[in-house]
Amino acid sequence: MKEAKKIPYKIYLEESEMPKEWYNVRADMKNKPAPLLNPGTLEPMTFEELRGVFCDELVRQELDDTTPYFDIPQEIQDFYKMYRPSPLVRAYCLEEALQTPAKIYYKFEGNNTSGSHKLNSAIAQAYYAKKQGLKGVTTETGAGQWGTALSMACAYLGLDCQVYMVKCSYEQKPFRREVMRTYGANVTPSPSETTNVGRKILSEHPGTSGSLGCAISEAVEAAVSQDGYRYVLGSVLSQVLLHQSVIGLETKAALDKYGITPDVIIGCAGGGSNLGGLISPFMGEKLRGEKDYQIIAVEPASCPSLTRGRYAYDFCDTGMVCPLAKMYTLGSGFIPSPNHAGGLRYHGMSSVLSQLYDDKLMEAISIEQTAVFEAAAKFARIEGILPAPESSHAIKAAMDEAMKCKETGEEKTIVFGLTGTGYFDMMAYEKFNNGEMTDYIPSDDDLAKGFAGLPQV
Ligand SMILES: *Cc1c(COP(=O)(O)O)cnc(C)c1O
Repeated sequence: MKEAKKIPYKIYLEESEMPKEWYNVRADMKNKPAPLLNPGTLEPMTFEELRGVFCDELVRQELDDTTPYFDIPQEIQDFYKMYRPSPLVRAYCLEEALQTPAKIYYKFEGNNTSGSHKLNSAIAQAYYAKKQGLKGVTTETGAGQWGTALSMACAYLGLDCQVYMVKCSYEQKPFRREVMRTYGANVTPSPSETTNVGRKILSEHPGTSGSLGCAISEAVEAAVSQDGYRYVLGSVLSQVLLHQSVIGLETKAALDKYGITPDVIIGCAGGGSNLGGLISPFMGEKLRGEKDYQIIAVEPASCPSLTRGRYAYDFCDTGMVCPLAKMYTLGSGFIPSPNHAGGLRYHGMSSVLSQLYDDKLMEAISIEQTAVFEAAAKFARIEGILPAPESSHAIKAAMDEAMKCKETGEEKTIVFGLTGTGYFDMMAYEKFNNGEMTDYIPSDDDLAKGFAGLPQV
């Protein structure tokens, strides 16, 4: 039996202990992430070029890889107080069920109406758009969490919000769509006939179920073709990792309160924002040589950017209208199977995480979908929370680590990011419950097609 439970089930922070600054891990990286390139000139993108697409303050954040801390504006701190701090939960029930000597903690980001961590960056991006006096923002959404978060943030600040939603999600997740519309957003299934790039993609791939890459192209075109609009993106960009550092800063503050040092930190990786945010302060210590941690990115076997991708300059979108980013990528032409790992179906990975991974400062693994849902169902029954499929990749990896500890008798402390809830993913759970879920793993030939489209840089 375990010793007396000194650590509470949930470690909360007082309002006064909440982060007042975001942490920019790039400041401590010796090998900085490669700069975004202008696809025409192949020169690094300048402030002037980027500000046509993104808000000025966000461009400053995007281009800054030396300033370690950014003040969180008071208005954003106040908004955070509506749903933060998020709890750091000690998974006593899971430890008991697995009979593991490991100590498991998870940072739960699903306690807001949008149901995921994405609200942390949505409010920041909407705030800077509002401050710049813009009318509204455009964006894409895959599984729908980002669009929902942005709709909430825009409603709060009185900004117009136009969302291009990947067509398969638009059809599979009508409730997500309606939440966004309830918050006042305008939602269009992508690819659509409303943009040049959408029409082009539709003529080349009739009947396509869409992808994040396509939806990004459409949203960028919509932003630059309307006065008073800018484009915002919910993942991948370095500014998003910066905003999401609030997850890691809170986690670290909560652990520090009880003198806990994690051994292993695990997060799911789509574009890398939650993982990047969770690990940032820990990675900072690692980069400065103060501490060491094992850090594991978990991605779906159906969209394995880190584990099977190339580290190369690539387009961030299918329509090739965005700057080039150096990242682990499957190629911007890679359209993943319309499986249910929704929010993890992006062809590329944050350039910050890509560089850290290339420098062997973190590891990556991939997991198949049915194994992920088995872990999700088990977790729901044991810990009570119905997890998002994306988050469940991290759950599965954490459970596997805990089982390894059972074999070796090691009492490792494992921390993982539980990024959101799965209430809008019940179609996927239904498939799983009916035993109809399948695993899709792209062949080397499938991947070769994506790599063939990489730009020559
Ligand atoms: C979007 C999303 C993810 C993946 O995105 P990252 O940028 O890699 O964090 C993971 N979990 C949930 C719940 C999401 O909504």
